[in-house]
Amino acid sequence: MSGMAENQAKTETAKREEEILRFWRERDIFNKSLEKHAPKGEFVFYDGPPFATGLPHHGSLLSSIIKDVVPRYKTMRGYRVRRRWGWDCHGLPIETLVEKELGLKTRKDIETIGIEAFNEKARSMVLQFVHDWEKYVERIGRWVDFKNSYKTMDNTYIESVWWALKQLWEKELLYEGRKVLMYCPHDETPLAKAEIAMDNTYKDITEEAVTVKFKVKNPERRGLPPNTFILAWTTTPWTLPGNVALAVGTDIEYSLTKADDGTYVLVAKKRQSDVLHKGIVIVDKDLIGKDLVDLEYEPLFDVPALKSDKSYKVYAADFVSTEEGTGIVHTAVMYGEDDYALGEEIGLPMVQMLDAGAHYNDVAPEFLRGKYIKAAEKDIKHDLESRDLLFEKKNHTHSYPHCYRCGTPLIYNAVPSWFLGINKVPKGKRKTVKERMLEENEKVNWIPEHLKHGRFGNIVESAPDWTISRNRFWASPLPIWKCQKCQKIEVLGSVAELKEKAGGAPDDLHRPYIDEYSWKCEACARSTSSGQGGEMRRTPEVVDCWVESGSMPFAEYHYPFENKHEFEKRAPGDFIAEYIAQTRTWFYYMHAMGVLLFDRLAFKNVVSTGTVLAADGQKISKSKGNYTDPLHLIEMYGADAMRFNLMASPVMRAEDVRFRDEDVRDAHNRVIQMVWNCYKFFELYKADYDGKTKWEDSAHPLDLWILARLEELVRNATIAFDAYDMPEGCKAIKEFIDDYSTWYVRRSRERAKSTGDDKQFTLATQRHVLFTLARVMAPIAPFIAESLYQNLDGGSNGYEESVHLRPWPEEKKPGFIDRLFRRQPTEPRILHSMALVRTTVSRALEGRDKAGIRVRQPLSKLEVSAADFETLPMLSELLSIIAEEVNVKSVTVSSGVNGGEVALDTTLTDELRLEGEIREFTRLVQDLRKQQNLKPGERATLTVLTLDQKVKDVLSGMRENLLRSSIDNIEYVDSLPGYEPHNFFSSKVAVALKKI
Ligand SMILES: [Zn+2]
Ligand SMILES: [Zn+2]
Repeated sequence: MSGMAENQAKTETAKREEEILRFWRERDIFNKSLEKHAPKGEFVFYDGPPFATGLPHHGSLLSSIIKDVVPRYKTMRGYRVRRRWGWDCHGLPIETLVEKELGLKTRKDIETIGIEAFNEKARSMVLQFVHDWEKYVERIGRWVDFKNSYKTMDNTYIESVWWALKQLWEKELLYEGRKVLMYCPHDETPLAKAEIAMDNTYKDITEEAVTVKFKVKNPERRGLPPNTFILAWTTTPWTLPGNVALAVGTDIEYSLTKADDGTYVLVAKKRQSDVLHKGIVIVDKDLIGKDLVDLEYEPLFDVPALKSDKSYKVYAADFVSTEEGTGIVHTAVMYGEDDYALGEEIGLPMVQMLDAGAHYNDVAPEFLRGKYIKAAEKDIKHDLESRDLLFEKKNHTHSYPHCYRCGTPLIYNAVPSWFLGINKVPKGKRKTVKERMLEENEKVNWIPEHLKHGRFGNIVESAPDWTISRNRFWASPLPIWKCQKCQKIEVLGSVAELKEKAGGAPDDLHRPYIDEYSWKCEACARSTSSGQGGEMRRTPEVVDCWVESGSMPFAEYHYPFENKHEFEKRAPGDFIAEYIAQTRTWFYYMHAMGVLLFDRLAFKNVVSTGTVLAADGQKISKSKGNYTDPLHLIEMYGADAMRFNLMASPVMRAEDVRFRDEDVRDAHNRVIQMVWNCYKFFELYKADYDGKTKWEDSAHPLDLWILARLEELVRNATIAFDAYDMPEGCKAIKEFIDDYSTWYVRRSRERAKSTGDDKQFTLATQRHVLFTLARVMAPIAPFIAESLYQNLDGGSNGYEESVHLRPWPEEKKPGFIDRLFRRQPTEPRILHSMALVRTTVSRALEGRDKAGIRVRQPLSKLEVSAADFETLPMLSELLSIIAEEVNVKSVTVSSGVNGGEVALDTTLTDELRLEGEIREFTRLVQDLRKQQNLKPGERATLTVLTLDQKVKDVLSGMRENLLRSSIDNIEYVDSLPGYEPHNFFSSKVAVALKKI
């Protein structure tokens, strides 16, 4: 796997992170974080089990990251956060893999090799990606217990699901019924709408739609001319043999028009121009829907099973519209939701015309029997054409649902299934499950908030009953047994019950073993004179795997058979997170199970992320190769940069984002590496720190300012993380690092190099800032946080051995700086003052820019506005910061300068010019030192080629300056081969440097 990542040279950042990983592993820091004292108790995190059917990509890593950031933060805040990995092992995704692996094309193929062999293969394939997942998840820095992971295929897990279904049976919420469902002809199973909507499996397809002529019987009885036809339009000609009725809207206006061939047709008035476009027609008569009700027509095909006194008539229905088609709807009760409801209402014959694989059965007209529905459409059209019953064929493009696993276009099909009654009232209660779900949803904290009453609220409000049976193989078997004679049903809630009923139980609860367990029905044994009971046999279906994911909070504990207390004190959960598509699946089903079983919410806080798309805006796809392997990116920029980039992104507010590798690079350069460089600067002088000087005692405005900013950071990050607002937390961190690096550290360089108290104050302050910053960054960027902490000797001197075992920095109350220093300025005033200093500096630098004078050239004076500065405390210190940054001799407060403006004197005297040149020269010497890799303190000799005595005079006047650059002596030469002369002191000068 990922050979690319292995061949690539790892960057320093990546190597540093790997060392931290080793450190965590060797010291067992994760477990220590679970075992440490947790004064605030348990913070309950539920981890939704992923399908391990492929390698993780950015999207799955995003889930892993947020599931790590929040627990790390809560741990630092004094909670214990148990983190147990789970694997979703069942269902169509894995079955599809098995089919591919074994080269199985149809359900018959599966039956040929046998369910046992099929399921054994599935079991062996389920965990094939486990190792890869572990590798990615560990490298991204997620702490989770893999070793002890739960699996939905475990007998204990299945037994808990059985227990749940038995509970729901007793509450009269589990029932068998027939409904029109989306059905996959290839997988031969119904699917839930949520499954189809989840991965947006609606695709635009173009099919030949047909407009069909239904001949009216005895038209004269209703005052209609002979040869009157009703036109109806359908995109699914295969449903026409099942036609039993036509539906009209009561108040829709219809017209009877005469066609060229002398026949008459009935169409909605509004649809006339679209339907009858090929040469009209005289309007003969206007009618409304009511007038057409009960009109009889001749069946399109002779299907004896569909005949009844209700069949082949026109009925009124409220689902009829004039949006498309003819305004008259062809109704085949078994193959449409509206059709089925109408059929039930009227009592139309309900006859299945298809087998499980969507081939016509023996009920269908003879010429269709055994044919697959889609393949038969040609024959149907041909047949109608030959009898002059086909009015028109025309291509029609529409959005159509496809199976999310095998890609087959789905059909609507009325199949018997088992349901959980979301719209039912539980036995002994007064509200429907749905009403309770809506009530409990009010208590859930949704991030982002709009999902609560928006997407999620809508899903709950429009939820149908939950179809939980699947006509498949590799899943929890439904624990439902039915008498083959009297149809009595028994639902079993445990293995013990099965043993009691059937005299035993299999070691493995999966099919086919479970199917062998049966017993004699006691009910019909009692009631029949012979005393012979029918056989209680398990209903063949398996359980929808979303029942399993939704049962995760209790089933992972094998509740209620074990860990009764454990589960009960961990419900409802405090926190879950997944991407937005799970709103209608995992979030919905877990909430549903919570209310169905326990009559309460299942989770209190839910973070929904958006979808991570590839840089091209498409879905991330391995086959398209439209994304970089995350491991490859991590080996360039590190996991911290990956984490920071995602946590700072609007994807954390459920918006879809394009994943761009450059953004990871930017997060590395502008956040992670920037902090590290700040630490590296501190490290140069770390040994000089006396260890006694306290940051609290500094009176330097830069120190006061950065300490106030640090407090601001802690406060804002705490508010953001408490609200699960990761982008806001990241923004606070990034802005602080920027201020710290580009202003504080830069302005403190000379202080750090100096000697005396001021040096000690800045070192003490830097140490405190980095130490605190490490803790604030720890949840988002755990690696750099640990590196800082360890390098600042965090692991020693009585401190916890890892930053992740430290408490979160204590939040101080506003005004803390004020109280701390027992003097002016107050915290907001120092923040305000420094902001003013920085804008003043940039104005003055703009002035230099306009005059074309480099910053290294000193200028004599800058005047700043009295209105802005006069009343500021620590004024002279602030002005000297400005003077240094702008490189002017003096900064004065002037009443002649307007607020917000500055007056920069750009006059250059000879003296100033010379000083500027000396600075340039010093700079050149420093560059030479760098080029030769001279360390601070290493002495050197400067070799100078010049014939100009004036230059020699200047240089000897610069002795002080040069000594500071560790130049011990200057050697003059007549030639310096290979060295470019520079313009200095109005002369040509070449210089070289030699280490002594
Ligand atoms: Zn399918
Ligand atoms: Zn019976």
